[in-house]
Amino acid sequence: MSLDLQNYDENNIFAKIVRGELPTQKLHEDQYVVAFPDANPKASIHILVVPKGKYTSFHDFSQKSSPEENQAFWKAVSALANQYHLEETGYRIIANHGDDAGQEVPHFHVHLIGGQPLGHLVTIS
Ligand code: 5GP
Repeated sequence: MSLDLQNYDENNIFAKIVRGELPTQKLHEDQYVVAFPDANPKASIHILVVPKGKYTSFHDFSQKSSPEENQAFWKAVSALANQYHLEETGYRIIANHGDDAGQEVPHFHVHLIGGQPLGHLVTIS
């Protein structure tokens, strides 16, 4: 079934985390952003960085977010990379948009992944 990125789903799992309805280990929180570990990590460090605003995908966020939200979001991503010393060892950021990218949760998020060699950019199977 294809993901609906036109209409924001108030019941998606990250909306519940942002609203504090589901417990999570918050690694960063400010007025605009929250970050927490991915439940199914693909590397030793795998952090999800999520804007608090209701954006379905990268496309939605990049088109509609305010300058303040946008700046706070990317600053949080880089601050987390610094906090985990990833700027020294290297890291990858991934934003999956839509079905072909395998986006599962229809609330915009970036995967911040590192802590070990990450191999090829993309594996298509
Ligand atoms: P996407 O495929 O949408 O880019 O990534 C969704 C990510 O959310 C997946 O890596 C998945 O492991 C993670 N995830 C799904 N449900 C939960 C949850 O309830 N808590 C946390 N921390 N991560 C989740």
